[in-house]
Amino acid sequence: MRVKLWGTRGSVPSPGPETIRYGGNTSCVGITLSDGSLLALDAGTGIRNLGISLPPELTRLHILLTHLHLDHIQGLVFFAPAFRAQTEIVIWGPASPEASLRDRIARYISAPLSPVEVRELPCDVSFRHTPETEWEIGPARIRAASVAHRGPTLGYRIDDGESSLAYIPDHEPALGADIDALEEDWISGFALARDASLLIHDGQYADDEYPDHIGWGHSSLSHALSFARRSGAERTVLFHHDPLHSDERLDRLGVEARKHWVELGGKAEAVELGSEGSTYELPVRVPATAKAT
Ligand SMILES: [Zn+2]
Ligand SMILES: [Zn+2]
Repeated sequence: MRVKLWGTRGSVPSPGPETIRYGGNTSCVGITLSDGSLLALDAGTGIRNLGISLPPELTRLHILLTHLHLDHIQGLVFFAPAFRAQTEIVIWGPASPEASLRDRIARYISAPLSPVEVRELPCDVSFRHTPETEWEIGPARIRAASVAHRGPTLGYRIDDGESSLAYIPDHEPALGADIDALEEDWISGFALARDASLLIHDGQYADDEYPDHIGWGHSSLSHALSFARRSGAERTVLFHHDPLHSDERLDRLGVEARKHWVELGGKAEAVELGSEGSTYELPVRVPATAKAT
């Protein structure tokens, strides 16, 4: 399984000279499975560049949406394969009692917010509510679970051979609780991340910013690392960077994250802050001594 970060920013696109290294595009991760089939995790503005990179002869891909906040769907109407008649796109996302996935996404892909309507997209697009049971796409087993955020929100786990990826970009696992004291079963998203080769997880706030944002649906650095450590993820990428965090600020947070990770008993190189364009070949293996005990 090959993983590429196409958009690492949270909340709103944040382009400019201060964010050029970690990137200003919002959430999107591209996955190439062992049989060559393609998945996109979320469709923030990062999916525009993913679309440009794909060959025109591509016939089918899946987009797995964690939720429908704009920073996770904004790139859909700028995704080149959506404008090719030969491409079949299957969009998965959380069900809601309020309206179907298609109808909720159509609130964005319709006037006055969009120049095109869903029915006008040239591609063959279908919308599926993500099931609560495991299902398969090509050689991969996919699992989703509701996680603590604002509104119906999923995290995903993708297992392909020996590789496993957990993707939980918008997540506040410690909401109203001490994550270190909670039983595993009570930690939101825990089963998705358990012993994953790679965990891509919300790391939006520095620890000193979090107290002003409790209940906003995102993690502090310490909470993200506690979650990663307890779940046994082999490697962790902090993701969904705050739009106010410049490259220099993120460099400092990265140093802090690695220091904290070592204090928790891990190896410094097993934690990093996600930057746009980074790729990961899974399975990721780190020395056995770095694994949680
Ligand atoms: Zn988000
Ligand atoms: Zn969100």
